[in-house]
Amino acid sequence: MTEVATPPAEQRDEQIAPINHWIAGRRVAGRSGRTGPVYNPATGRQTGAVDFASGEEVDEAVAAAKAVFPSWRATSLSRRAEILFRVRALFHEHREEIARILTAEHGKVLSDALGEVARGLEVVEFACGIPHLLKGEYTEQASTGVDVYSIRQPVGVVGGITPFNFPTMVPMWMFAPAIACGNAFVLKPSEKDPSASLYLAELLQEAGVPDGVFNVVHGDKVAVDALLEHPDVSAISFVGSTPVARYIYTTATSHGKRCQALAGAKNHMVVLPDADIEMAADAAVSAGYGSAGERCMAISMVVAVGAAAEPLVEAIKERIPKIKVGDGLDPDVEMGPLITREHRDRVASFVEHAPAEGASVVVDGRESTPDGDGFFLAPSLLDNVTPQMECYLEEIFGPVLGVTRVDTYDEALKLVNENSYGNGTAIFTRDGGVARRFQFEVEAGMVGVNVPIPVPVAYYSFGGWKNSLFGDTHMYGPEGIAFYTRGKVVTSRWPDPATSQVDLGFPQTR
Ligand code: NAD
Repeated sequence: MTEVATPPAEQRDEQIAPINHWIAGRRVAGRSGRTGPVYNPATGRQTGAVDFASGEEVDEAVAAAKAVFPSWRATSLSRRAEILFRVRALFHEHREEIARILTAEHGKVLSDALGEVARGLEVVEFACGIPHLLKGEYTEQASTGVDVYSIRQPVGVVGGITPFNFPTMVPMWMFAPAIACGNAFVLKPSEKDPSASLYLAELLQEAGVPDGVFNVVHGDKVAVDALLEHPDVSAISFVGSTPVARYIYTTATSHGKRCQALAGAKNHMVVLPDADIEMAADAAVSAGYGSAGERCMAISMVVAVGAAAEPLVEAIKERIPKIKVGDGLDPDVEMGPLITREHRDRVASFVEHAPAEGASVVVDGRESTPDGDGFFLAPSLLDNVTPQMECYLEEIFGPVLGVTRVDTYDEALKLVNENSYGNGTAIFTRDGGVARRFQFEVEAGMVGVNVPIPVPVAYYSFGGWKNSLFGDTHMYGPEGIAFYTRGKVVTSRWPDPATSQVDLGFPQTR
């Protein structure tokens, strides 16, 4: 978590923008006296100071959400859908502005930032179908004169806590289905790139989302804990690292809340000897180094089976020098900087320590990193990585791809299944039977067959297994709707009108 410290003068821009909360439909300046620095990672200069909320400020946001919840949940489904269609149109219309904010604070290249908005929008589109998604079941004549039906109702105030790597897409995964279901939402975005959430808040207001239905409180553990412990918050959605996810899940559930906590990853891509090696190399490069490896679905380990290893390592190595690293606003650049200087140094340390552990450094990104104060690190490739090594055990979350060589499919499968994470995985092969067996046997929540980053489309749900997920439900799609609603079953009895005491014009049976 970012330390609340003022950086040295040479790293500060003259104009440091204050980044405030959004409560009950307006920007609200923080009162806690605590802020965190926000940087442009491409220049290394501070551009903003984000307010860190106190418990009282979180209370205000929750109170605003609680106050509007009764009227919002009573708003008709057709009206809610109409507003969501407008949200969809406005987000799409302003996607370039949103993407520029993302690039300025996160560092990802503009095309990637536009891709993030597009993937988030798919979930908004899914949420536009809310009248259909909330349809219940109906059983007529369960007993004589008795009908039974199910309905789903919103849970109330939902808290969302999101990571730095997708500052708009992950919030959209949460708030779009949550508010479509009739809940009110309080977002605590990452303090490292917080501005996009405020822009989304303004667009939501313009689309007609009533004030208080969507709120943003910025901050650190203080704000998060206030949400986790708040008696008026019914549910918590979290996406972030595994240690924090474990903490969030334990704390939220011990305070009686439902919680879904999506966590870290170490995604393996298995390449069999019969695979199209050129295609697999392209996939490994884009999935390993895209967005500087700061994706929870990034491929971080390539498991090369038998004869695939030699040509595959060669093909990846050949491609690496062609990846242009630099400022994400430059249209020729393919990979931007990392999120902070500290994170860049941590990622580089895995490359530094790899030889001592017995891995071979095929490409050392530290040698071709652009000059300047930006938090850059060019792509690295490590070979002969084994499961005991630090670079295998840790989630590096940067542009470092490891290759592990094994002799058989069974060894590859064992490696994937013994890993403590189970977010995504992929297999590259021309053999449909092997791919089918992999899908059956592998222990991960999202599986790609000749697809390196198998992020489910919005009408399925996104989530991992093992240490990549705490809680039962995956995010967005049908599981998102289930998470943001509670089931209710109504059993009703209406006597046959023929038995009525009052003459309703039916032939009387008594
Ligand atoms: P993080 O866990 O450091 O932070 C996530 C959120 O938790 C932020 O809002 C942060 O302010 C808050 N937080 C951090 N430390 C906290 C603490 N001690 N107590 C309470 N709240 C705290 O994660 P990050 O560095 O922002 O994001 C990268 C991580 O997120 C990676 O591990 C990545 O794999 C994971 N991630 C997972 C998915 C997924 O779907 N499984 C998606 C995106 C990112």
